[in-house]
Amino acid sequence: MDTILVDNAGSSSVKFQVFETGGPSRLKRIIKGQVEGIGTRPRLKAQGADGAVLVDETYGPDVVSDVPGAIREAGAWLRTSQKLTLIAVGHRVVHGGPAYSRPTLIDSKVVEKLERYIPLAPLHQPNNLAPIQAFLKNSPGLPQVACFDTAFHRGHSAVADHYAIPEQLYKEGVRRYGFHGLSYEFVAKRMQELFPETAKSRVIVAHLGSGASMCALADGRSVESTMGFTALDGLPMGTRPGQIDPGVVLYLMSEKGMSAEAIQKFLYNDCGLKGLSGISNDMRVLETGDEPGAKLAIDYFVYRISLYAGMLAAALGGLDAFVFTAGIGENSAGIRARIAKKLGWLGAELDANANAGGKPVISRPQSRLKLFVIPTDEELMIAEHTLAVIAADRLQKTGYRETAKSGAGSHA
Ligand code: ADP
Repeated sequence: MDTILVDNAGSSSVKFQVFETGGPSRLKRIIKGQVEGIGTRPRLKAQGADGAVLVDETYGPDVVSDVPGAIREAGAWLRTSQKLTLIAVGHRVVHGGPAYSRPTLIDSKVVEKLERYIPLAPLHQPNNLAPIQAFLKNSPGLPQVACFDTAFHRGHSAVADHYAIPEQLYKEGVRRYGFHGLSYEFVAKRMQELFPETAKSRVIVAHLGSGASMCALADGRSVESTMGFTALDGLPMGTRPGQIDPGVVLYLMSEKGMSAEAIQKFLYNDCGLKGLSGISNDMRVLETGDEPGAKLAIDYFVYRISLYAGMLAAALGGLDAFVFTAGIGENSAGIRARIAKKLGWLGAELDANANAGGKPVISRPQSRLKLFVIPTDEELMIAEHTLAVIAADRLQKTGYRETAKSGAGSHA
Protein backbone atom coordinates (compact mmCIF):
# COMPACT_ATOMS: atom_id res chain seq x y z
CA MET A 1 0.00 0.00 0.00
CA ASP A 2 1.29 3.46 -0.92
CA THR A 3 1.99 5.76 1.99
CA ILE A 4 2.81 9.39 2.73
CA LEU A 5 5.14 10.31 5.57
CA VAL A 6 4.42 13.57 7.37
CA ASP A 7 7.11 15.08 9.51
CA ASN A 8 6.93 17.91 11.93
CA ALA A 9 10.33 18.72 13.38
CA GLY A 10 10.02 21.38 16.08
CA SER A 11 12.60 23.19 18.17
CA SER A 12 12.91 20.35 20.68
CA SER A 13 10.81 17.42 19.44
CA VAL A 14 10.18 15.46 16.25
CA LYS A 15 6.67 14.26 15.45
CA PHE A 16 5.86 12.03 12.49
CA GLN A 17 2.83 10.30 11.05
CA VAL A 18 2.26 7.87 8.22
CA PHE A 19 -0.89 7.88 6.08
CA GLU A 20 -2.04 5.18 3.68
CA THR A 21 -3.31 6.66 0.45
CA GLY A 22 -6.27 5.39 -1.54
CA GLY A 23 -9.29 3.60 -0.10
CA PRO A 24 -12.63 5.22 0.68
CA SER A 25 -11.24 7.85 3.05
CA ARG A 26 -8.33 8.69 0.68
CA LEU A 27 -5.94 9.15 3.62
CA LYS A 28 -5.83 6.77 6.56
CA ARG A 29 -3.47 7.41 9.47
CA ILE A 30 -1.57 4.21 10.24
CA ILE A 31 1.35 5.40 12.40
CA LYS A 32 1.73 8.27 14.81
CA GLY A 33 5.08 8.77 16.50
CA GLN A 34 7.44 11.20 18.14
CA VAL A 35 10.87 11.62 19.63
CA GLU A 36 10.85 13.60 22.85
CA GLY A 37 13.44 14.55 25.46
CA ILE A 38 16.09 15.22 22.81
CA GLY A 39 19.47 15.80 24.46
CA THR A 40 18.17 14.88 27.92
CA ARG A 41 16.17 11.62 27.98
CA PRO A 42 15.49 10.83 24.31
CA ARG A 43 12.54 8.54 23.74
CA LEU A 44 11.09 7.28 20.46
CA LYS A 45 7.48 6.24 20.72
CA ALA A 46 5.03 5.28 17.99
CA GLN A 47 1.54 3.86 17.86
CA GLY A 48 -0.51 2.19 15.17
CA ALA A 49 -4.02 3.19 14.06
CA ASP A 50 -5.56 1.06 16.82
CA GLY A 51 -3.38 2.69 19.49
CA ALA A 52 -1.10 -0.37 19.81
CA VAL A 53 2.46 0.61 20.77
CA LEU A 54 4.79 -0.17 17.85
CA VAL A 55 7.98 1.09 19.46
CA ASP A 56 8.97 2.60 22.80
CA GLU A 57 12.70 3.03 23.00
CA THR A 58 14.97 5.26 25.04
CA TYR A 59 18.44 6.42 24.00
CA GLY A 60 21.46 7.93 25.69
CA PRO A 61 21.49 11.73 25.46
CA ASP A 62 24.68 11.58 23.39
CA VAL A 63 23.05 9.20 20.84
CA VAL A 64 20.13 11.57 20.21
CA SER A 65 21.63 14.92 21.15
CA ASP A 66 19.77 17.11 18.65
CA VAL A 67 16.81 17.20 16.25
CA PRO A 68 18.76 15.82 13.24
CA GLY A 69 19.81 12.90 15.50
CA ALA A 70 16.18 12.26 16.41
CA ILE A 71 15.20 12.32 12.72
CA ARG A 72 17.95 9.80 11.98
CA GLU A 73 16.75 7.36 14.67
CA ALA A 74 13.06 7.70 13.78
CA GLY A 75 13.96 7.22 10.09
CA ALA A 76 16.03 4.13 10.85
CA TRP A 77 13.14 2.61 12.81
CA LEU A 78 10.64 3.35 10.04
CA ARG A 79 12.93 1.87 7.37
CA THR A 80 13.85 -1.31 9.20
CA SER A 81 10.63 -2.25 10.96
CA GLN A 82 7.81 -0.82 8.85
CA LYS A 83 8.85 -1.48 5.22
CA LEU A 84 6.71 1.34 3.88
CA THR A 85 6.20 2.13 0.22
CA LEU A 86 6.59 5.88 0.43
CA ILE A 87 5.22 7.89 -2.46
CA ALA A 88 5.99 11.27 -0.91
CA VAL A 89 7.00 13.11 2.24
CA GLY A 90 5.17 16.18 3.52
CA HIS A 91 7.06 18.54 5.81
CA ARG A 92 5.84 21.20 8.15
CA VAL A 93 8.01 24.25 7.50
CA VAL A 94 7.43 27.10 9.87
CA HIS A 95 8.53 29.93 7.57
CA GLY A 96 7.69 30.37 3.92
CA GLY A 97 8.78 34.04 4.02
CA PRO A 98 7.16 36.45 1.57
CA ALA A 99 7.66 34.03 -1.34
CA TYR A 100 5.49 31.02 -0.49
CA SER A 101 1.74 31.27 -0.23
CA ARG A 102 0.97 27.61 -0.89
CA PRO A 103 2.45 24.13 -0.38
CA THR A 104 5.39 23.64 -2.67
CA LEU A 105 7.21 20.73 -4.29
CA ILE A 106 10.77 20.79 -3.01
CA ASP A 107 13.97 20.82 -5.01
CA SER A 108 17.42 22.13 -4.16
CA LYS A 109 16.48 25.66 -5.32
CA VAL A 110 13.50 25.73 -2.93
CA VAL A 111 15.76 24.55 -0.09
CA GLU A 112 18.23 27.33 -0.90
CA LYS A 113 15.45 29.89 -0.66
CA LEU A 114 14.09 28.43 2.57
CA GLU A 115 17.57 28.55 4.09
CA ARG A 116 17.43 32.33 3.66
CA TYR A 117 14.53 32.42 6.11
CA ILE A 118 16.55 30.79 8.92
CA PRO A 119 17.14 34.19 10.59
CA LEU A 120 13.35 34.68 10.66
CA ALA A 121 12.82 31.43 12.63
CA PRO A 122 16.23 30.44 13.98
CA LEU A 123 15.01 27.74 16.36
CA HIS A 124 12.59 26.03 13.98
CA GLN A 125 13.63 26.55 10.35
CA PRO A 126 16.98 24.65 10.52
CA ASN A 127 15.22 21.67 12.12
CA ASN A 128 12.46 21.81 9.51
CA LEU A 129 15.07 21.74 6.75
CA ALA A 130 17.18 18.92 8.24
CA PRO A 131 14.86 16.04 7.20
CA ILE A 132 14.30 17.66 3.78
CA GLN A 133 18.05 17.71 3.16
CA ALA A 134 18.43 14.13 4.40
CA PHE A 135 15.74 12.88 1.96
CA LEU A 136 17.20 14.92 -0.92
CA LYS A 137 20.55 13.25 -0.30
CA ASN A 138 19.39 9.69 0.39
CA SER A 139 16.22 9.42 -1.75
CA PRO A 140 16.60 12.10 -4.42
CA GLY A 141 13.73 10.72 -6.53
CA LEU A 142 11.16 10.81 -3.71
CA PRO A 143 8.78 13.80 -4.03
CA GLN A 144 8.85 16.11 -1.01
CA VAL A 145 6.35 18.86 -0.28
CA ALA A 146 6.89 21.83 2.05
CA CYS A 147 3.76 23.03 3.86
CA PHE A 148 4.18 26.42 5.51
CA ASP A 149 2.79 27.77 8.75
CA THR A 150 2.83 31.25 7.24
CA ALA A 151 1.13 30.46 3.92
CA PHE A 152 -2.51 30.67 5.08
CA HIS A 153 -1.96 34.30 6.15
CA ARG A 154 -0.32 35.53 2.97
CA GLY A 155 -3.52 37.16 1.73
CA HIS A 156 -3.52 39.73 4.56
CA SER A 157 -4.08 43.36 3.60
CA ALA A 158 -1.13 45.78 3.53
CA VAL A 159 -2.09 47.32 6.87
CA ALA A 160 -2.24 43.89 8.53
CA ASP A 161 1.05 42.82 6.94
CA HIS A 162 3.13 45.88 7.92
CA TYR A 163 4.90 47.32 10.92
CA ALA A 164 5.29 51.09 11.14
CA ILE A 165 8.95 50.98 10.15
CA PRO A 166 10.74 52.12 6.98
CA GLU A 167 9.54 50.30 3.86
CA GLN A 168 13.02 48.98 3.08
CA LEU A 169 12.74 46.58 6.02
CA TYR A 170 9.36 45.35 4.76
CA LYS A 171 10.95 44.67 1.38
CA GLU A 172 13.67 42.71 3.13
CA GLY A 173 10.99 40.53 4.71
CA VAL A 174 10.30 42.19 8.06
CA ARG A 175 6.56 41.64 7.96
CA ARG A 176 3.70 40.45 10.13
CA TYR A 177 3.53 36.89 8.81
CA GLY A 178 1.35 35.07 11.33
CA PHE A 179 1.82 31.36 12.10
CA HIS A 180 -0.16 28.19 12.95
CA GLY A 181 -1.56 28.51 9.42
CA LEU A 182 -1.90 24.77 8.84
CA SER A 183 -4.00 24.48 11.97
CA TYR A 184 -6.22 27.41 10.96
CA GLU A 185 -6.62 26.06 7.45
CA PHE A 186 -7.70 22.69 8.83
CA VAL A 187 -10.17 24.27 11.26
CA ALA A 188 -11.59 26.54 8.53
CA LYS A 189 -12.11 23.47 6.36
CA ARG A 190 -13.82 21.55 9.19
CA MET A 191 -16.04 24.57 9.84
CA GLN A 192 -17.13 24.49 6.21
CA GLU A 193 -17.98 20.78 6.50
CA LEU A 194 -19.71 20.93 9.89
CA PHE A 195 -21.19 24.45 10.09
CA PRO A 196 -21.23 25.83 6.54
CA GLU A 197 -23.35 28.91 7.34
CA THR A 198 -21.14 29.99 10.23
CA ALA A 199 -18.02 29.28 8.19
CA LYS A 200 -19.08 32.09 5.83
CA SER A 201 -19.26 34.61 8.68
CA ARG A 202 -16.80 36.42 10.98
CA VAL A 203 -14.91 33.87 13.06
CA ILE A 204 -12.01 33.93 15.51
CA VAL A 205 -10.06 30.69 15.92
CA ALA A 206 -7.96 30.40 19.09
CA HIS A 207 -5.14 27.88 18.69
CA LEU A 208 -4.21 27.36 22.35
CA GLY A 209 -1.40 24.81 22.67
CA SER A 210 2.14 25.14 23.95
CA GLY A 211 2.41 27.69 21.14
CA ALA A 212 -0.67 29.90 21.03
CA SER A 213 -2.17 32.40 18.64
CA MET A 214 -5.52 33.60 17.34
CA CYS A 215 -6.66 34.15 13.78
CA ALA A 216 -9.50 36.23 12.37
CA LEU A 217 -11.34 34.46 9.53
CA ALA A 218 -13.68 36.24 7.13
CA ASP A 219 -15.54 33.74 4.93
CA GLY A 220 -12.89 31.13 5.81
CA ARG A 221 -9.92 33.31 4.85
CA SER A 222 -7.36 34.67 7.29
CA VAL A 223 -7.47 38.47 7.58
CA GLU A 224 -5.49 39.02 10.79
CA SER A 225 -3.35 37.11 13.27
CA THR A 226 -2.01 37.79 16.75
CA MET A 227 1.43 36.58 15.67
CA GLY A 228 3.78 38.68 13.60
CA PHE A 229 7.34 38.57 12.29
CA THR A 230 8.18 35.61 14.50
CA ALA A 231 6.17 33.15 16.57
CA LEU A 232 6.97 35.20 19.69
CA ASP A 233 4.28 37.84 19.34
CA GLY A 234 0.68 37.92 20.50
CA LEU A 235 -0.65 35.62 23.20
CA PRO A 236 1.41 34.38 26.14
CA MET A 237 2.47 30.77 25.49
CA GLY A 238 4.00 27.89 27.44
CA THR A 239 7.46 29.47 27.48
CA ARG A 240 7.12 32.57 25.23
CA PRO A 241 5.87 35.92 26.53
CA GLY A 242 3.68 36.98 23.65
CA GLN A 243 3.33 40.71 23.03
CA ILE A 244 6.02 42.63 24.85
CA ASP A 245 7.26 46.22 24.58
CA PRO A 246 10.51 46.20 22.53
CA GLY A 247 11.78 48.50 25.27
CA VAL A 248 12.01 45.44 27.53
CA VAL A 249 14.45 43.87 25.08
CA LEU A 250 16.50 47.09 25.03
CA TYR A 251 16.49 47.04 28.84
CA LEU A 252 17.77 43.44 28.88
CA MET A 253 20.59 44.46 26.57
CA SER A 254 21.61 47.73 28.16
CA GLU A 255 20.97 47.04 31.84
CA LYS A 256 21.47 43.28 32.05
CA GLY A 257 24.20 43.02 29.43
CA MET A 258 22.40 40.16 27.69
CA SER A 259 23.56 39.15 24.21
CA ALA A 260 21.16 38.63 21.28
CA GLU A 261 21.57 34.88 21.74
CA ALA A 262 20.83 35.01 25.47
CA ILE A 263 17.73 37.16 24.87
CA GLN A 264 16.52 34.78 22.17
CA LYS A 265 16.86 31.83 24.55
CA PHE A 266 15.12 33.81 27.28
CA LEU A 267 12.18 34.83 25.08
CA TYR A 268 11.64 31.35 23.61
CA ASN A 269 12.28 29.23 26.71
CA ASP A 270 11.93 31.11 29.98
CA CYS A 271 8.86 33.34 29.68
CA GLY A 272 5.13 32.82 29.17
CA LEU A 273 3.21 30.59 31.59
CA LYS A 274 6.48 29.14 32.85
CA GLY A 275 8.16 32.48 33.52
CA LEU A 276 5.12 34.19 34.98
CA SER A 277 4.04 31.32 37.23
CA GLY A 278 7.55 30.29 38.22
CA ILE A 279 6.07 26.77 38.27
CA SER A 280 5.36 25.19 34.90
CA ASN A 281 4.63 25.75 31.23
CA ASP A 282 1.93 23.06 31.36
CA MET A 283 -1.60 24.34 31.80
CA ARG A 284 -2.63 21.05 33.46
CA VAL A 285 -0.12 21.65 36.24
CA LEU A 286 -1.16 25.28 36.67
CA GLU A 287 -4.88 24.44 36.76
CA THR A 288 -4.40 21.94 39.58
CA GLY A 289 -2.05 24.17 41.57
CA ASP A 290 -3.15 26.76 44.13
CA GLU A 291 0.05 28.82 44.21
CA PRO A 292 -0.38 32.57 43.51
CA GLY A 293 1.99 32.27 40.51
CA ALA A 294 -0.22 29.63 38.89
CA LYS A 295 -3.31 31.79 39.37
CA LEU A 296 -1.61 34.89 37.96
CA ALA A 297 -0.38 32.99 34.89
CA ILE A 298 -3.86 31.63 34.12
CA ASP A 299 -5.49 35.02 34.76
CA TYR A 300 -2.99 36.66 32.40
CA PHE A 301 -3.52 33.99 29.70
CA VAL A 302 -7.31 34.42 29.80
CA TYR A 303 -7.07 38.23 29.98
CA ARG A 304 -4.77 38.49 26.96
CA ILE A 305 -7.01 36.17 24.92
CA SER A 306 -9.97 38.40 25.70
CA LEU A 307 -8.01 41.54 24.77
CA TYR A 308 -6.98 40.03 21.44
CA ALA A 309 -10.56 38.91 20.80
CA GLY A 310 -11.44 42.61 20.85
CA MET A 311 -8.64 43.41 18.41
CA LEU A 312 -9.59 40.64 15.98
CA ALA A 313 -13.32 41.47 16.24
CA ALA A 314 -12.36 45.03 15.21
CA ALA A 315 -10.43 43.65 12.23
CA LEU A 316 -13.53 41.69 11.20
CA GLY A 317 -15.99 44.53 11.91
CA GLY A 318 -17.90 42.33 14.37
CA LEU A 319 -17.90 38.72 15.45
CA ASP A 320 -20.22 35.75 14.88
CA ALA A 321 -18.27 32.77 16.22
CA PHE A 322 -15.30 31.85 18.39
CA VAL A 323 -13.55 28.49 18.00
CA PHE A 324 -11.26 26.77 20.51
CA THR A 325 -8.59 24.37 19.29
CA ALA A 326 -5.19 22.71 20.17
CA GLY A 327 -4.08 21.19 23.51
CA ILE A 328 -5.58 23.72 25.93
CA GLY A 329 -8.47 24.79 23.68
CA GLU A 330 -9.60 21.21 23.06
CA ASN A 331 -9.07 19.84 26.57
CA SER A 332 -9.54 22.47 29.23
CA ALA A 333 -13.24 23.12 29.91
CA GLY A 334 -12.17 25.45 32.74
CA ILE A 335 -10.11 27.76 30.54
CA ARG A 336 -12.83 27.74 27.85
CA ALA A 337 -15.44 28.73 30.45
CA ARG A 338 -13.30 31.60 31.70
CA ILE A 339 -12.67 32.91 28.20
CA ALA A 340 -16.36 32.58 27.28
CA LYS A 341 -17.27 34.69 30.32
CA LYS A 342 -14.87 37.42 29.18
CA LEU A 343 -16.51 37.31 25.73
CA GLY A 344 -19.92 38.08 27.25
CA TRP A 345 -19.79 41.64 25.88
CA LEU A 346 -19.53 40.14 22.38
CA GLY A 347 -22.68 38.09 23.05
CA ALA A 348 -21.21 34.78 24.26
CA GLU A 349 -23.44 32.59 26.42
CA LEU A 350 -21.80 29.32 27.38
CA ASP A 351 -23.72 26.03 27.64
CA ALA A 352 -21.93 24.68 30.72
CA ASN A 353 -23.00 21.07 30.15
CA ALA A 354 -21.94 21.04 26.51
CA ASN A 355 -18.63 22.62 27.52
CA ALA A 356 -17.97 20.10 30.29
CA GLY A 357 -18.99 17.27 27.94
CA GLY A 358 -16.53 18.41 25.25
CA LYS A 359 -19.23 18.90 22.60
CA PRO A 360 -18.42 20.67 19.30
CA VAL A 361 -21.00 23.44 19.97
CA ILE A 362 -20.63 24.86 23.48
CA SER A 363 -22.81 27.98 23.28
CA ARG A 364 -26.49 28.12 24.20
CA PRO A 365 -28.96 28.21 21.32
CA GLN A 366 -29.78 31.90 21.97
CA SER A 367 -26.10 32.94 22.24
CA ARG A 368 -25.37 35.83 19.86
CA LEU A 369 -21.76 34.66 19.62
CA LYS A 370 -21.51 30.97 18.73
CA LEU A 371 -18.81 29.01 20.56
CA PHE A 372 -17.21 25.87 19.13
CA VAL A 373 -14.54 23.31 19.95
CA ILE A 374 -12.95 21.92 16.79
CA PRO A 375 -9.93 19.62 17.22
CA THR A 376 -7.13 20.55 14.88
CA ASP A 377 -5.10 18.09 12.77
CA GLU A 378 -2.09 19.77 11.21
CA GLU A 379 -0.59 16.45 10.09
CA LEU A 380 -3.70 15.46 8.14
CA MET A 381 -3.68 18.91 6.52
CA ILE A 382 -0.05 18.35 5.46
CA ALA A 383 -0.87 14.87 4.11
CA GLU A 384 -3.79 16.29 2.10
CA HIS A 385 -1.61 19.08 0.68
CA THR A 386 1.16 16.62 -0.15
CA LEU A 387 -1.20 14.32 -2.00
CA ALA A 388 -2.70 17.25 -3.93
CA VAL A 389 0.70 18.71 -4.88
CA ILE A 390 2.10 15.42 -6.17
CA ALA A 391 -1.12 14.70 -8.07
CA ALA A 392 -0.94 18.14 -9.73
CA ASP A 393 2.73 17.58 -10.53
CA ARG A 394 2.00 14.20 -12.11
CA LEU A 395 -0.77 15.72 -14.18
CA GLN A 396 1.51 18.50 -15.36
CA LYS A 397 4.23 16.01 -16.31
CA THR A 398 1.77 13.74 -18.11
CA GLY A 399 0.41 16.77 -19.94
CA TYR A 400 3.94 17.69 -20.96
CA ARG A 401 4.68 14.23 -22.31
CA GLU A 402 1.45 14.07 -24.25
CA THR A 403 2.05 17.49 -25.76
CA ALA A 404 5.60 16.51 -26.67
CA LYS A 405 4.32 13.29 -28.27
CA SER A 406 1.76 15.23 -30.27
CA GLY A 407 4.62 17.33 -31.64
CA ALA A 408 3.40 20.67 -30.26
CA GLY A 409 6.68 20.98 -28.40
CA SER A 410 5.56 23.40 -25.70
CA HIS A 411 4.70 22.87 -22.06
CA ALA A 412 1.00 22.10 -21.57
P1 ADP B 1 2.02 21.55 20.73
O1 ADP B 1 1.45 20.76 19.58
O2 ADP B 1 2.33 22.98 20.41
O3 ADP B 1 3.10 20.85 21.48
P2 ADP B 1 -0.50 21.03 21.98
O4 ADP B 1 -1.52 21.60 21.08
O5 ADP B 1 -0.36 19.55 22.05
O6 ADP B 1 0.88 21.74 21.79
O7 ADP B 1 -0.82 21.56 23.45
C1 ADP B 1 0.01 21.20 24.51
C2 ADP B 1 -0.48 21.89 25.77
O8 ADP B 1 -1.89 21.62 25.96
C3 ADP B 1 0.20 21.32 27.01
O9 ADP B 1 1.35 22.02 27.31
C4 ADP B 1 -0.84 21.52 28.07
O10 ADP B 1 -0.58 22.73 28.72
C5 ADP B 1 -2.15 21.66 27.34
N1 ADP B 1 -3.11 20.61 27.69
C6 ADP B 1 -3.21 19.36 27.20
N2 ADP B 1 -4.22 18.68 27.79
C7 ADP B 1 -4.77 19.53 28.69
C8 ADP B 1 -5.84 19.43 29.63
N3 ADP B 1 -6.55 18.33 29.76
N4 ADP B 1 -6.10 20.52 30.37
C9 ADP B 1 -5.38 21.66 30.26
N5 ADP B 1 -4.38 21.81 29.40
C10 ADP B 1 -4.06 20.76 28.62
